[in-house]
Amino acid sequence: MNQLSGKEALEKLREGNRKFISSVFNPGDISREIRLETAEHGQHPYAAVVACSDSREIPEDIFSCGIGEIFTIRIAGNVIEDSQMGSVEYAVEHLDINLIVILGHTSCGAVGAAIEGHTSGRVGVITREIIQAIRNEKDARKASIRNVLYQAEKVRKQFPDVLVVPALYEIRSGEIHWLEE
Ligand SMILES: [Zn+2]
Repeated sequence: MNQLSGKEALEKLREGNRKFISSVFNPGDISREIRLETAEHGQHPYAAVVACSDSREIPEDIFSCGIGEIFTIRIAGNVIEDSQMGSVEYAVEHLDINLIVILGHTSCGAVGAAIEGHTSGRVGVITREIIQAIRNEKDARKASIRNVLYQAEKVRKQFPDVLVVPALYEIRSGEIHWLEE
């Protein structure tokens, strides 16, 4: 199976998001046929998406994707720690994916906690990573943007040959702001 280039994959996601904005249901293929097809021949997703665990940001829906289309890594605050980087490495080296999207969102609780300086408990592993990214930024939206730019830069350093795109999802409008290409 021929893998899509980073740019082709990005165009597919952009198109999927345009479709999503006016959709009531996800039009992605989740049929029995695609289940059997992917069970038989394996998965060949064309993009990896690192997204927040927030229940309002569902990558497959936001991009109108069905089974086998995107390799999704979800963690509160969409940070890239060792296990997320390992998952990205798997996507690049074993699934031949040429596009990695780092997808933050508006009103992110993890970013809010980082702004307020909450670093206790296990959550601190995440918020400390976000604080590194946002530094003294107190505006929630700007901080979310700084965070995705920072995490994207980290991934780019590890995988300079793939397209890495930071993006911000608007939880109200359903729109994605692509921050760089
Ligand atoms: Zn979030």
